[in-house]
Amino acid sequence: MDYIYRTDLGNATDMTTSGHHLDDLRDRIHGEVLLPGDPAYDASRSVWNAMVDRRPRLIVRCAVVDDVVAAVRTARELGLEIGVRCGGHSVVGLAVPEDGLMIDLTPMRAVRVDPVARIARVQGGALLGVLDAAAQEHGLATTAGNVSHTGVGGLTLGGGMGWLARQHGLTCDNVLSFELVTADGSRVRASADENAELFWGLRGGGGNFGVVTDFALQLHPLTGPMLSVEVDVSIDDAEHALRDWRDLSFDAPREGTFAASIANGVAMVGFVWTGAPERGRALIPSLRSIARRPLAERITTPSYIRLQSREDTVEGHAIRRYWKGHYFRALTDDVIAGLVTGTSDPYAPAVSLQAYGGAIASVPDDATAFSHRDVAFELVAAAGWTDAAEDAERIEGARRFAAPLEPFASGAYVNVLSDEGQHGVRRAYSPAKLARLTALKDGYDPDNAFHLNHNIRPTAQSKGQ
Ligand code: FAD
Repeated sequence: MDYIYRTDLGNATDMTTSGHHLDDLRDRIHGEVLLPGDPAYDASRSVWNAMVDRRPRLIVRCAVVDDVVAAVRTARELGLEIGVRCGGHSVVGLAVPEDGLMIDLTPMRAVRVDPVARIARVQGGALLGVLDAAAQEHGLATTAGNVSHTGVGGLTLGGGMGWLARQHGLTCDNVLSFELVTADGSRVRASADENAELFWGLRGGGGNFGVVTDFALQLHPLTGPMLSVEVDVSIDDAEHALRDWRDLSFDAPREGTFAASIANGVAMVGFVWTGAPERGRALIPSLRSIARRPLAERITTPSYIRLQSREDTVEGHAIRRYWKGHYFRALTDDVIAGLVTGTSDPYAPAVSLQAYGGAIASVPDDATAFSHRDVAFELVAAAGWTDAAEDAERIEGARRFAAPLEPFASGAYVNVLSDEGQHGVRRAYSPAKLARLTALKDGYDPDNAFHLNHNIRPTAQSKGQ
């Protein structure tokens, strides 16, 4: 069942993929062209969310930047929808176009680290785990998400939240330059002093402006063990525990990121500490005191690499998924009451909260396209199941949970949007930023060739919307 994953802006024509075009493309590229029936075709089109089962007309597995140029030009000539795949973790599988051309960047997955300049050069198809491992070899790191099989590409272009963000900013705040292939097949570089407006838009504006083939990321020294503290309480104690946990988070130093969750009738309150563990341990007594009747306590000191991959299995592939997300400027008592009540629904999703603030909020709002730097917490409501017969109930359950909280929310994180369409885009960006992004789109992609994303529509397509 294609419940939510149809794309609404198809521009593919009836033109068939002629043998001539295919032979020409195959001759020109270093990578591979995959067609339905080829042995590697199914593996390449399958993504994180097992609900996504779309069949591109062709997949171009790009090995070098010129392959990306050839793929973009071929798609444009044939009038095929373009999907861009890095880690394949878009919740609704936006990377995979039905009957279109998928640009599979996963062969371009290398990361090179210059330990003296503290810069990582990351190819457009790299996963977070590769970045973390390469940087940690030199005692370095930069902000990356919490699951190592997520792609650097999608995560960075939408913002990039992780355990280091309160210290060092979002991943997009650590980008020094982007190299990309734009909608007309041109190669362009964007940095603070080259195509500065594009540089602004790529830091939060998603995959709207081109295919990024290289990210230069600022690294920071990070050695020694991290600290993770989690205290479980029963759902009956969740409301007061979450209120006290929220209050405790207000004074947290930047090394501490407060996190909480509710799943299967158990609430967890805790934090992750990315500085010297002994300083983080000072927070433990206060955290303990808010759990009147703790069910369990977990205090661990994982390496950074272990911290970054500890959720890899629970957040693994081959599971059907649906997400909703909200940003809260204030996690009021009403919001806490609403989310605890909401989890009593038999089809309620698992809920997680992560604190923002610190270095994220220190970056001036107009410095990047990423919006909502003033939020206190991000909420993700994530449903996961295996039986396709449950699709409708699970999706409705997540929607039922999230809808009553929306009036309290200040917006949504673009990378957590699923099937909200333009309503979601308007939640992700302020009107002023959306106008600025639209002007950028008009300049770089007026035909909206890159529309399989949380789409910034060019003016010509947004009239009358
Ligand atoms: P893909 O599906 O490959 O790409 C998603 C979209 O990004 C594409 O449709 C395309 O528009 C664009 N894109 C990707 N690469 C490129 C490129 N090189 N050039 C141009 N466009 C590109 N987010 C956080 O901030 N922090 C987290 O801790 C976090 N954890 C997550 C954990 C899981 C298990 C999942 C599923 C998601 C998580 N996210 C997190 C959200 C994540 O940032 C988004 O899902 C993001 O889109 C994933 O990027 P990807 O490259 O893996 O996905």
